[in-house]
Amino acid sequence: AEEKLRQAQKLEAIGQLTGGIAHDFNNMLAVVVGGIDVAQRRLPPGHDTVRQPLNQAMEGAERAAALTRRLLGFARAQPVDATPSDAAAMLADMVQLLDRVIGDTIRVRIEPATGLWPIVVDRHQFENAILNLAVNARDAMPDGGTLVLSTANVTLDGDSALAAGDYVRVAVLDTGRGMPPDVVARIFEPFFTTKALNQGTGLGLSQIHGFMQAAGGGIDVDSRPDEGTLVSLLFPRGAGVAVPAARTATAQTGANR
Ligand code: ADP
Repeated sequence: AEEKLRQAQKLEAIGQLTGGIAHDFNNMLAVVVGGIDVAQRRLPPGHDTVRQPLNQAMEGAERAAALTRRLLGFARAQPVDATPSDAAAMLADMVQLLDRVIGDTIRVRIEPATGLWPIVVDRHQFENAILNLAVNARDAMPDGGTLVLSTANVTLDGDSALAAGDYVRVAVLDTGRGMPPDVVARIFEPFFTTKALNQGTGLGLSQIHGFMQAAGGGIDVDSRPDEGTLVSLLFPRGAGVAVPAARTATAQTGANR
């Protein structure tokens, strides 16, 4: 399960990177192609010693453009399916998976709230984020400990980094080794890791950070060395009715909001 998670992370990161690079590259290519095109058209008849290398340059640029188009297609290939969801229900559905990933020395407790507001997220991305946080918590508790996952409705005033309003907080708390401030300062950097080469990619938290921003929310990390870490994901309160995953699309359209 973990190897798969690491692979998925790497792939997604590569997708994001190539997407960004391909996009920039495409813009630069447009300048190159435009320049060659102008030169070709302004070249008087004859001058074959110049025309020939120009044609070759154009051919190369067009091949490069075709390649970047393919890369952009690959980067866009990850579909996002954001639907009104119940964070507590999604956590409850993950209990078995979490138990398997966490192992025997760590106690896992889930404290779901009732009457939770719906959030609008891609279920797959949500589960991936929670799984990442759980793996981090496990790695921080090599001698055992407790992992608590909880949910709550919260209303923020204008004082925090997020816009004032209603949010659903999903908190992941561990009793692990925690982090010093200089580590906390860097945890959202892609590829920042303190783990051994084949144990961490340094992509988990940067990805969750991106996911939370895309969701219109945020992530907050509060850590104390030798005490533990509390990671809070804040999702904006969504409109609509959260549909339990087990129900069908028919039931969803039957909801009266
Ligand atoms: P990775 O887990 O692959 O290293 P992350 O982006 O998920 O990448 O985490 C970056 C770093 O943040 C970790 O290497 C670790 O040093 C630190 N970290 C993350 N979560 C925790 C935690 N719950 N307790 C202690 N340290 C953590």
